[in-house]
Amino acid sequence: MSSTDYTSLKMALQIKLQDLEDRAERIENRLSDPGSPDWEENAALHSNDEVLNALSDLTHHDIQEIRLAISRIDEGSYGTCAQCGSKIGQPRLKLLPFTSTCVSCA
Ligand SMILES: [Zn+2]
Repeated sequence: MSSTDYTSLKMALQIKLQDLEDRAERIENRLSDPGSPDWEENAALHSNDEVLNALSDLTHHDIQEIRLAISRIDEGSYGTCAQCGSKIGQPRLKLLPFTSTCVSCA
């Protein structure tokens, strides 16, 4: 096991997680908005639902990824490929901090 210190990365991930959770909440509030009584305005409002739903899915996906990354840091498996167990290269981790697989398993 290397002595790589992921404390600052974990802090950064927690900040990002908070940010995404706030965003998910805002999207959900927007989606559950009953809308305006004005029909035309209502139609315009709900034409965005598809986009908001997609954005919501994406946000929840990111939240999951970050939670997993944080738990991997906690249990010391962060930076190790979940598939083959080899080390994930630093350049890849820099690019994709939430990844759980190495380049060859991705
Ligand atoms: Zn691998």
